[in-house]
Amino acid sequence: MTRYEAVIGLEIHIQLNTRTKIFCGCLADSWGAPPNTNICPVCCGLPGVLPVLNRSAVEKAILLGAALGATVADESFFDRKNYFYPDLPKGYQITQYDRAVVQGGRFDVPMPDGRIVSASITKAHLEEDAGKTRNDALRGVRQIDMNRCGVPLIELVTGPDLRSAEEAAQFLVRMRQLLRWLDLSEANLERGHLRCDANISIREAGATVLNPKTEIKNVNSIEAVRNAIDAEIARQIGEVEAGRRVSAWTLDWDDETQTLRKMRSKETEADYRYFRDPDLLSAQLTPEWKQAVLAALPELPLARRARFMADHGLSAYDAEILTEERALSDYYEAAVTAYAGSPKAVANWMMNDILRVLNESGGSAAELTFTPAHLAETIKLVEAGTINRATGTALIAKVIATGSSPAEIIAAEGLAQISGDDALLALAQTVLEENPQQIKAYQKKPALLKWFVGQAMRKSQGKANAQVLEQVFLKILPPTEA
Ligand code: ZN
Ligand code: MN
Repeated sequence: MTRYEAVIGLEIHIQLNTRTKIFCGCLADSWGAPPNTNICPVCCGLPGVLPVLNRSAVEKAILLGAALGATVADESFFDRKNYFYPDLPKGYQITQYDRAVVQGGRFDVPMPDGRIVSASITKAHLEEDAGKTRNDALRGVRQIDMNRCGVPLIELVTGPDLRSAEEAAQFLVRMRQLLRWLDLSEANLERGHLRCDANISIREAGATVLNPKTEIKNVNSIEAVRNAIDAEIARQIGEVEAGRRVSAWTLDWDDETQTLRKMRSKETEADYRYFRDPDLLSAQLTPEWKQAVLAALPELPLARRARFMADHGLSAYDAEILTEERALSDYYEAAVTAYAGSPKAVANWMMNDILRVLNESGGSAAELTFTPAHLAETIKLVEAGTINRATGTALIAKVIATGSSPAEIIAAEGLAQISGDDALLALAQTVLEENPQQIKAYQKKPALLKWFVGQAMRKSQGKANAQVLEQVFLKILPPTEA
């Protein structure tokens, strides 16, 4: 039996998180807004109006281009893509055909098995989104919501470099991480901020030919990308093994039934009659402008992950978690700087305490009022023996609730650890006096030492130093018979 490999390229539409739309001043984000409330004559395509390019959308494209190691054009043009559809009020979409802002580049995708898949980027261009139609079955009419008309998109096109559904899924996971990291998009697939089309063909493993491909549209989650591509690869292999040719179809993924449906035979580009939009000047991306934008380009997630492992000595697992989101990563770095000790100590507190607090609150590390400085202070207080580890953890909630610093709370609530020999001795003696039976039991069973320490800890409301207590008990308890 022949072994096949899949050849997959992705086209991803990314909704940018600019405040306003790409060619007018309407709000770009209409999530939850009633239909047709964020619209104006420009985005509704009324006659006689002129589009004005949103600088912020171009700047986000520049950042993405730089992150992908792409060529960012010096001059970029806008074109009209002509087609008729009810959700496209002008009868054409303003997009970029041959002079995209971003050309070329690569995106490295680490796979769960440790491989790095390096996918080429063909181009990434700016364009406007179309509206939404919906059927009102009750009244038997079709309705159009134009809120989404003119929302800025980047369409990113990869080369045919991915070889499996898993590689495509991981590409999306890492692209989503990058887009959020650079604050280009909310990148929420379920809300349509990332819409992925996949071009798929198969060939005999190791061959270099490209066979006719199909395009899957309408995949709205990472899981759907994985399932739809796997289903299509299996379908194509079935066709070829049955001696049939794969035709260049456009397919629709139905997530509910987990099946592909043929939408239409693929249209060719000529159908769109692209031409330059005469209403828009070309965008001049001067070196000064690009430089100013790129000053805001942060260290990228994979580079930061590698640095956390090499310079901070973190495990691959910890480094991955601590670079999943930029805010968390920045928090950790700030705490490491404030603490000025071993980064691994900070990483432990991050993994055990800070992540738990964030999971419970559902908030972002950027908004946490227990600041990196508070964390550094707390770790130092534990290391100095002023408080024990459990009190340190309890401090986090108290700082958040009161707004006071860890040191202030320790002073106000008397949380400092009891380490003084006299205080611990008195505490231990009280425990012995109250439990004569246990002393006898201890003489036959030395493991009961822990029980005495536990009693004393409870009496001190968790403030005693358990290690020192153990030594104190050993001194005052009678010798064991063992
Ligand atoms: Zn508008
Ligand atoms: Mn497009």
